[in-house]
Amino acid sequence: MTYRGRFAPSPTGDVHFGTARTALAAWLAARAAGGAYVMRVEDLDGPRSVPGAEERILEDLRLLGLDWEEGPDVGGPHAPYRQSLRLARYDAAVEQLLAGGHAFRCWCSRAEVARAAAAPHGPADDGPRYPGTCRARTTPPPRDRRPSVRLRVDAEDVTFVDGVHGPWRENVAAAIGDFVIRRADGIPAYQLAVVVDDAAMGMSDVVRGDDLLGSTARQLLLYRALGVAPPRFAHVPLVLGPDGARLSKRHGAIGIRALRERGRSPEEVVGLLAATLGLVPDGTRCTPRDLVADFALARVTRTPTTLDPAAL
Ligand SMILES: [Zn+2]
Repeated sequence: MTYRGRFAPSPTGDVHFGTARTALAAWLAARAAGGAYVMRVEDLDGPRSVPGAEERILEDLRLLGLDWEEGPDVGGPHAPYRQSLRLARYDAAVEQLLAGGHAFRCWCSRAEVARAAAAPHGPADDGPRYPGTCRARTTPPPRDRRPSVRLRVDAEDVTFVDGVHGPWRENVAAAIGDFVIRRADGIPAYQLAVVVDDAAMGMSDVVRGDDLLGSTARQLLLYRALGVAPPRFAHVPLVLGPDGARLSKRHGAIGIRALRERGRSPEEVVGLLAATLGLVPDGTRCTPRDLVADFALARVTRTPTTLDPAAL
């Protein structure tokens, strides 16, 4: 299979250090394999999207020396490369899953799920485990409420081999239960949109931050229900701030733009990103191109890197 990798930023602000680092890792994996690199903008979270952020993100990544064959700014055979323009595709996938019995409509409110949940908490982003209320609903649904759609999740361990973390196992049924693939307001869930796009765009490999490691089992269940072969996954450990929490704005100015404004050259910034990936010694100045020949996912550090923005 031809290698096709991608990077999928959300236009919620300027590129920060951690985002650029993941973009670089995904780019290196694609280029080292002689493959294509695709840029896709994940802008389904309308309220969080910042006008102009997409342009600034692409500009900053280009400035560092990254390039892509397909994307919102250059087009390509799988256009559009912006999720807000692909809603009909997500709806078609939801209809396919409903028709095939892989998904069902759910009229429960958040509060009802929380009350009925057997386990108090699943992963923070998904709230409590869904108790299966609407799987076989015997009472008529409330007329004044629009349903969400959930994927039917059976009790089993989902296993895969991660390109960085190795063998991985997760029981989605126990931790999360039947999960939402389209919200009651009609917006597709992140998990569904990502899977539909990665499948439609022919991605062979997904390299992303390991904050999404916990999403992978759910995505694998979606691939199976849609009858599509999944890509390979590799999750790059995150950069942490000095306090051990995921590096974010509250640790200080960590934007690529801010670094540039402080007079750091693109080669210095790329060297810094590569050093935190464990690819080069501290203080290296290089272009992404310089790193391709020696790159292997196996060389990426398996433990989170700590970084003090004050030292930048
Ligand atoms: Zn329900």
